[in-house]
Amino acid sequence: MRKQLLPALTLLAVLPALAGLSACGKEGTPPPKGPQPGALPSYEVRTAAPITGSPTLDAARARGHLVVGAKEDQPYLGQKNPATGEYSGFDIEIARMVGAYLGFGPDRIEFRTIASANRETALQNGQVDYYVGTYTINENRKKLVGFAGPYFIAGQALMVRKNETKINGPQDLAGRKVCSAAGSTPYQRIQANYPKAELVGYDTYSACVDNLISNQVDAVTTDNAILQGYVAKVPDELKMVGEPFSTEPYGIGVPKNDTVLRMAINDALQLNMDNGNWKKAYDATLGLSGVPAPQPPAIDRYK
Ligand code: GLU
Repeated sequence: MRKQLLPALTLLAVLPALAGLSACGKEGTPPPKGPQPGALPSYEVRTAAPITGSPTLDAARARGHLVVGAKEDQPYLGQKNPATGEYSGFDIEIARMVGAYLGFGPDRIEFRTIASANRETALQNGQVDYYVGTYTINENRKKLVGFAGPYFIAGQALMVRKNETKINGPQDLAGRKVCSAAGSTPYQRIQANYPKAELVGYDTYSACVDNLISNQVDAVTTDNAILQGYVAKVPDELKMVGEPFSTEPYGIGVPKNDTVLRMAINDALQLNMDNGNWKKAYDATLGLSGVPAPQPPAIDRYK
């Protein structure tokens, strides 16, 4: 029988505790790794030649700060410390390097958690100025929002309980319960290509992970970059299986018609890829989940 390492305790409850960086590993195990603030780059806040012609930036300047959409439950990517309210992770660093280029230091960026299914609406309604949270660029979404980037390339993958032997790829999901976030590309791909899987949708991946650990579902599917973070946090419970079965280029979502903002963010990304900050940020965040930094991808300045 499987040893229940996390009885009744939900991962949703565990993850924030881990995010709090309290050294609360299980007895006898080293404390889990977390982003190490000391190793993070600092981004020069650009003050010369302010960008003109972006309604989004004009509104942010009038307000005094940027509002950036993000995730809060994705280890090493976008995570909120419940004790301090601080966000950290690779996506958060990307948001900060962009903010600095746009003239806003870290103390002038307010992060707001927005779930996968609500990203387009949040950008359309002006709830956020831009969005950085494992957001795949695709043609459907481009009808609703603009995308700077990509700044990272992920791929859809599968995560199961450590003792699972029968699920080794998406072809094994027939009749099994697989969980993903509503409105996400991985959710849509299972729906379209693996109709025999019993698809379960939640707002967040951490809810899926809770359900996996408590045997309510048999697998969680989303990007490898997200899953590897959960596995790194609870390696005794979880594992990834099979090979990635999609390409998920991560973009920064912007209001659809603010081309000035989109191009400025592309400039910001290129600058930080070229000066080494991108790699430094990766190494201090997502790199801690065990995958070395790839080459930064080529930016697509589509017309
Ligand atoms: N990258 C995928 C997407 O944008 C999955 C991750 C997420 O839901 O944020 O839909």
